[in-house]
Amino acid sequence: MKIVVDLNRCQGYAQCVFLAPRVFELHGEESLMYIPQPPGAERERVLRAAVACPVQAILVEDPEAGRAPGEEDRSGVR
Ligand code: SF4
Repeated sequence: MKIVVDLNRCQGYAQCVFLAPRVFELHGEESLMYIPQPPGAERERVLRAAVACPVQAILVEDPEAGRAPGEEDRSGVR
């Protein structure tokens, strides 16, 4: 999977950092660092972070899922 964070949108709310601390990291108040190609083991956390972001700044490309980022997982959330 690949992620891109729209840093113009990001307001440093840190929801993503809380939900996927191995992928997202805040430096200072509004400087977000992240791993653009997180390992598969982080997939669920990253998806949760993308959904939780209050300004929808996290864009996810997830070929495994075959569904749009942020879309509800109807197969049951793990
Ligand atoms: S949750 Fe969204 S707004 Fe908050 S730090 Fe992460 S990307 Fe930025």
